[in-house]
Amino acid sequence: MHGRLYNQVEMKMRIRPVTPLLIKSGQDAATALDPTLPDMNFVRTRLRTGEEVPYIPGSSFRGVLRSHGERLVRTVKEEGACNLFGRKKEQKGTLRPNCIEHLDGLDKRPAAEIYNTSCYTCRIFGNTGIAGRVQLTDFMPPEDNSLFTGVRHGVAIDRITGAVAHGPFQLETVTDGYFDGTLVMRNFTLGQLGLVAAALLDMADGLVALGYGKSRGLGRVEIAWQKLSFRFCTDPGAGLAGVGALAGPNVREQFSLPAPEEDRLALPELVTARRGGFWETSLEGMAARDCLEQLVPLWTAEV
Ligand SMILES: [Zn+2]
Repeated sequence: MHGRLYNQVEMKMRIRPVTPLLIKSGQDAATALDPTLPDMNFVRTRLRTGEEVPYIPGSSFRGVLRSHGERLVRTVKEEGACNLFGRKKEQKGTLRPNCIEHLDGLDKRPAAEIYNTSCYTCRIFGNTGIAGRVQLTDFMPPEDNSLFTGVRHGVAIDRITGAVAHGPFQLETVTDGYFDGTLVMRNFTLGQLGLVAAALLDMADGLVALGYGKSRGLGRVEIAWQKLSFRFCTDPGAGLAGVGALAGPNVREQFSLPAPEEDRLALPELVTARRGGFWETSLEGMAARDCLEQLVPLWTAEV
């Protein structure tokens, strides 16, 4: 199934900090060469022009998205999301153990077998045996780099004596401006896209914070969808079609995909047009967000 493109969604998103945001760079100022940087500085990337700008690495965003997705799945079905990092006994608790750590010779096993033994979130985000369906670019600041950054001071309090245990230290935060990036998801069932949509909407509504200092109230963001572009291998009709509706009976059975009639969402206003062998459609602004909201209820039936 992974070798062929059945469907794809591309979401262009804009993230704005609502409360100060700090995505920590792995490098502390103490070890960095520039002594003018704060103790905890925002991660930066170098542009072609040589300028260094703050950005949100796609991997950081993906990590938050996945762990919130796992949390949502576990509220409906505890064993629906495995404990990816549960190699150590003391971390295992009551969570489902890592999906594939007990499977040996992963590279020799058929993809369908690994897929079927993987939990709901591994099927979406991948594990060491199967590739994920969700890809994220880095989220970059606007071209003129019009971000407002500020330096906050923090202290860590000793829990026993109440005295200052650390600090004061400086935190570099982005307080205003925006970052643009893209999420691409391929060969998804509508339920899987619904779970990703649910996790994104919670982040968009400020319920899930990004980066450092969540308990200090940092990292609440707003997400706006600029464009949602869909692509299908066959005509989805007036609406969206998941891989269960688009794949043939063999693939559907091999990967235990939902039945065709269950993997469709009717959206009467949506117009699809054929372009170069694919059927395409797109939504912008609030219509994009509305579409994601309609997908949300679909994941709970699938888990
Ligand atoms: Zn898993």
